[in-house]
Amino acid sequence: MQADLYVKNGLVVTEETAFHGGVVITDGKIVELVAGDTAVAAQEVIDVKGKAILPGIVDDHVHFNEPGREHWEGYQAGSMAAAAGGVTTFMEMPLNATPPSIDREKLIHKRTAVKDQSVVDYAHWGGLVDNNLDELEGLHEEGVIAFKGFMSESGVDFKRINDDVLYGGLVKSRELGNVVGVHAESEYVTRFLAAQIQATGRIDRSAWSESRPPAAELEADKRAIYWAGVTGGNLHIVHTTIAAGIHAAAQAKQEGVNVTVETCPHYLFFDNDDFVRIGPAAKCAPPLRAREEVENLWECVLAGMVDTIASDHSPCPTADKVKGNDDIWQAWGGITGVQAMLPALLTEGVHKRGLSLSLLVRLMSANPARIFGLYPQKGSLLPGSDADITIVDLDKTWTLAAEDLFSRHKHSAYVGYTFQGQVVRTIVRGTTVYEDGQIKVKPGFGNLLQRIR
Ligand SMILES: [Zn+2]
Repeated sequence: MQADLYVKNGLVVTEETAFHGGVVITDGKIVELVAGDTAVAAQEVIDVKGKAILPGIVDDHVHFNEPGREHWEGYQAGSMAAAAGGVTTFMEMPLNATPPSIDREKLIHKRTAVKDQSVVDYAHWGGLVDNNLDELEGLHEEGVIAFKGFMSESGVDFKRINDDVLYGGLVKSRELGNVVGVHAESEYVTRFLAAQIQATGRIDRSAWSESRPPAAELEADKRAIYWAGVTGGNLHIVHTTIAAGIHAAAQAKQEGVNVTVETCPHYLFFDNDDFVRIGPAAKCAPPLRAREEVENLWECVLAGMVDTIASDHSPCPTADKVKGNDDIWQAWGGITGVQAMLPALLTEGVHKRGLSLSLLVRLMSANPARIFGLYPQKGSLLPGSDADITIVDLDKTWTLAAEDLFSRHKHSAYVGYTFQGQVVRTIVRGTTVYEDGQIKVKPGFGNLLQRIR
């Protein structure tokens, strides 16, 4: 029988292994992986000439700001940036859009607004805020892949949670078979330190970092993990920046607590000296950390102690960054990163620190699909999985220019950096959506996904 597509002559990478071969695709699904240069009858053959063939990247944490703030990014621009970054599925957060997705009605409103806009597949987070525990079941029924809660103020119209709602949300996550993802920083200590530092008149970049120290993150990590243990709920800690938090999670996992941890490319690529130099484009929360902490985080990644790496892509109009040039408190906190994430990990991880491609695939594709209930439809090259493939030239050296960005606003902390490793082609369900700097499909090609289990 003739296949639809044969992607051949590459380095096929799975979670377990990497080998020279190809991928056979029919009806948008993987049929089989073949070793070597085996001949396969197919309508279309793509010879990737030794480049790496990865399962498509599954980014479990992006903000595309739609509806209500689509002038910040929006699904068209955001999904194109994702495709150019090798991301075949993104999971979009409930906040930084208005209204935030905190009940069924608002989620449906969002889905209507973003329909027919994305060029890759996507799923939605629901929101966990101070007063919506009764809404979680409805959000779950709509297929949200997790519930996002902030333990510190989010800075937007999305109320933070205290321990009562964290506790209640975790109980619901156990009952529903879903996940609570938390932004873990101590509200009280970060607020106290910010007030104390601001009272001295400081507006420099380090003032931001000093107001949100590692200890304030670790306290929230440990508190969330504690309540996950008590409730038997499913906890995911987003954008972990510190090894101590990951060690606390590892210890809890051994004791049977359902906790997973995510980190982001910017916490692995940049340190706080970079933040001082780059300025507002590199402002985020938690902030970029000291070099020693960055290297400790890398040790955790290389040891397999981190579960997922996600971009936390959180763009804004350039003016909202520029206004913080001289007063860091005024800048929007969030990094435009979905397009640079994979190249950053190839450069700093695979090439510089010996991160294996199989572990990279586990962190950026298989694990996020598993944790958020999309596996093995997504995150896998198993027969029957969606034929989502990211083709990477591992050795290509290139420098990211602002005009390369598909994001609506052409600023990013990664602009001007030279990467080793480039996404050359992104395939979603057997169709090329991105190739050599061009988007190849119309907005709306991307499908909405629901949590499978
Ligand atoms: Zn985020």
